[in-house]
Amino acid sequence: MSSNNTFKQRRASVGVLVGTVTIGGNAPVVVQSMTNTDTVNTAATTAQVAQLARAGSELVRITVNSMEAAKAVPTIRARLDDMGCHVPLVGDFHFNGHKLLTEHPDCAKALAKYRINPGNVGHGKKRDEQFATLIETACKYDKPVRIGVNWGSLDPEMLARIMDENAKSSDPKDAGYVMREALITSALESAAKAEEIGLARSRIVLSCKVSGVQDLISVYRDLASRCDYALHLGLTEAGMGSKGIVASAAALSVLLQEGIGDTIRISLTPEPGGDRTREVIVAQEILQTMGLRAFVPLVAACPGCGRTTSTYFQELADSIQRYVREQMIAWREQYDGVENMTLAVMGCVVNGPGESKHANIGISLPGSGENPVAPVYVDGQKTVTLKGDNIAEEFRQIVDQYVREKYPKKK
Ligand code: SF4
Repeated sequence: MSSNNTFKQRRASVGVLVGTVTIGGNAPVVVQSMTNTDTVNTAATTAQVAQLARAGSELVRITVNSMEAAKAVPTIRARLDDMGCHVPLVGDFHFNGHKLLTEHPDCAKALAKYRINPGNVGHGKKRDEQFATLIETACKYDKPVRIGVNWGSLDPEMLARIMDENAKSSDPKDAGYVMREALITSALESAAKAEEIGLARSRIVLSCKVSGVQDLISVYRDLASRCDYALHLGLTEAGMGSKGIVASAAALSVLLQEGIGDTIRISLTPEPGGDRTREVIVAQEILQTMGLRAFVPLVAACPGCGRTTSTYFQELADSIQRYVREQMIAWREQYDGVENMTLAVMGCVVNGPGESKHANIGISLPGSGENPVAPVYVDGQKTVTLKGDNIAEEFRQIVDQYVREKYPKKK
């Protein structure tokens, strides 16, 4: 996407087709998300999947944890299709996935990918049998599988084996190393087994999730150097609010900068009653601010300071960002390239005109002691000065006009 040559070349990986979306290969990094509704509640789950897809989630994962949930999956798929929402659905399976998939073939068919966790497939002899059943089902319906290892549910037998090997080694490593090695070994050995059973390499995505930033970076650097499977990247249990966003951005941006990661999910804990689409917006903003992809025009705004006379410019920056995000749903269908448009909303004359000139459209609001007027810059040229009570509406009209005139209509 970006011509910025400071990016390391994307790590070569085998592309995996998930419904209509490709993860890995030469495809751009895919944004995905997960619902937090009870899958049995088909109305709520359908609505949330549609909401996540509208926000830009290119794949949506849903929990499939019971017979009732498995039965609900085809209904959810059909309702989404009826609404014109064809986003691929990924089923998240733990403990009983082998049963659910074999006993509910309509569920197995309706899903575009299965996510399985080798640590939660079963124990002892059953583990291998149940894992084989899951993979055979994926082969039967030609579905890709994410083998998603998580440090909170590591296969205990695998961990014990690696700890044992480490203890016997002439150069034993620390506990952190052992944990990371166990995660990677679990993912790679499970993928090798899946291939032995008959699942193609181009049907396998791997992930090894941890909740610490430095651990995630170490694990993925190592994993990326040891295989060419497509990689799903994300910090597990990232947390709430700014902590979850900052930790995810810190970890993912280091890895993405190194060309590691083919699809990302931001595991944010929403505030009670909070909006689930936040995780989609954060994922998009990480990719867009890094110059890897463009989704929605982004608004540059100054932080405000003692020269700011009111909260008006903050409100304008917020409302225009919301406005372009909402409009983007229609613009995407009608025009080419609007996602690359840049906007600036600035609080005073100090940096206002300069920053505004760097954007496609910028507005410099009056700071303390300035005339109550707001010059607008379009492609670096001052075009109009707004004043009065209708600045926000007039600025939106300028943005609309710019989109109509500058971006070619889609054929
Ligand atoms: S542009 Fe003006 S209002 Fe905004 S932070 Fe800078 S000095 Fe303060």
